[in-house]
Amino acid sequence: RFISLEGGEGAGKSTQVRALGVALRARGLTVVETREPGGSPGAEAIRRLLLEGTADRWTARTEALLFAAARADHVARTIRPALEAGQWVLTDRFLDSSLAYQGGADSIGADAIRTLHAIGSEGLLPDRTLLLTLPLAEATDRAAARDAGAADRFGARDPDYHARVSDAFLALAKADAARFRIVDASGPAAAVTERLLAAIDAPA
Ligand code: C5P
Repeated sequence: RFISLEGGEGAGKSTQVRALGVALRARGLTVVETREPGGSPGAEAIRRLLLEGTADRWTARTEALLFAAARADHVARTIRPALEAGQWVLTDRFLDSSLAYQGGADSIGADAIRTLHAIGSEGLLPDRTLLLTLPLAEATDRAAARDAGAADRFGARDPDYHARVSDAFLALAKADAARFRIVDASGPAAAVTERLLAAIDAPA
């Protein structure tokens, strides 16, 4: 099965991917943990292009193409081979991040992002998408604690931008209630992991 974790910065996605990997392996499953942008050697190289340099290095349209290109490599080299081998794939971000950030907050539009996804990744969708939600102030505090001294090109975004991302994620979840589960990311990490496992186990 193919599971994506989505949400804004500081929601705890990467911590939870690791915790879910541990929990699912304890059930005897083979699990691949991966992330975007990145998740394959080529996509990690594109990640460096995206994150390094000054805030104005790329235009929003070039960024959308780079995220889609990174995803195409990630799907072809990492995700599809694992799924074909019958493994579980847990990814920290996938298409919905591009729809929320580039499509929504950067105003590129969902249709254009979906077209890029059709070209790059043959429209592959997760079986389940877990949207981690956290009040923006709390998420900002968590992200600041994590990123102390390690700002990337995207560090200069203002609170209004992050609010647009958050609204876009919630709209995506509403529009595809069969694929999405919204999970409260507040409180201790172990409690969030339990909520996520329940959402994974819930019938489609
Ligand atoms: O999730 P992670 O922190 O690794 O993402 C790296 C950066 O890329 C973050 O600043 C995130 O906001 C940004 N990003 C983005 N658009 C995406 C995916 C990630 O702007 N589609």
